[in-house]
Amino acid sequence: MRLLIMGPPGAGKGTQSKRISEHYGIPAISTGDIFRSEVRAKSPLGLEVQRILDSGGYVGDDITNRIVAQRLAQPDTGGGFLLDGYPRTLPQVDALDKMLSEHGRSLDAVIALEADVDELVQRLLKRGETEGRSDDTEEAIRIRQQKYLDETEPLLHGYGERGLLVRVNGLGSIDEVSERIFDALAAVQTRPEPDAVP
Ligand code: ADP
Repeated sequence: MRLLIMGPPGAGKGTQSKRISEHYGIPAISTGDIFRSEVRAKSPLGLEVQRILDSGGYVGDDITNRIVAQRLAQPDTGGGFLLDGYPRTLPQVDALDKMLSEHGRSLDAVIALEADVDELVQRLLKRGETEGRSDDTEEAIRIRQQKYLDETEPLLHGYGERGLLVRVNGLGSIDEVSERIFDALAAVQTRPEPDAVP
C-alpha cells in the first residue's frame, strides 16, 4: 500500500500512522519526525529548520521535497509506505507525483483524518506539557492550524477528484479510529507493485 495520512495538527496522525505501519508492514515516514531528529542532532539541516519548526511555519518546499525523495529512495519503501505530514503544499503534491511516476508508482489512498480544529488546541497544549514539543505553544499551534486550513486542507479536494480520498472521523478512542481506518482501507483497490506488472 502506498498511502498518505492528512489532517489538522493534533488529529492523531502520528499515533494512527504507527498502527497502519504495523498492520500493513510498511514504513511510516513523518517529515515532522525527520525534521525534529535533525534538530536534536544539531545537523546543518536541523540548525536551519529549528526556528521555522518552533514558530509553527512550514519548512521550504525544496528542502522538504529533497528529504522525502531521499527517504523514498530507500529500499524499505519497495513494498509500500505511509507518508505522514507530507505533502502539505501544492508544490509538494506535484513533487510527490513526479517522484512516484519516475518509478512507475502511484498512490493507493489518501486518508483524511477529520477533527474539529478548535477542539484540538486543548489536546496540543496538553501534549506540550507532557512531551515538551517546542512547537506545542499556543501561538505556534494557532499558526500551524491556520497554515493547515489555508494551504493543506485545500489539497484534499484534488485527491478527492482523483478518487483517492478516504475520509475518516478522527474523534473517539485510538482503537475506534484505527478500526475505521482499516475498514475504509479494506475497500481500497491496491494497484500492483511496478515489479509485478508484466
Ligand atoms: P503537526 O501535524 O502537529 O503540525 P508534524 O510533526 O507533522 O506536526 O510537523 C511539525 C513541523 O514540521 C511543522 O509545523 C513544520 O514546521 C514542519 N513540517 C513537517 N512536514 C512538513 C512539510 N511537508 N512541509 C513543510 N514543513 C513541514
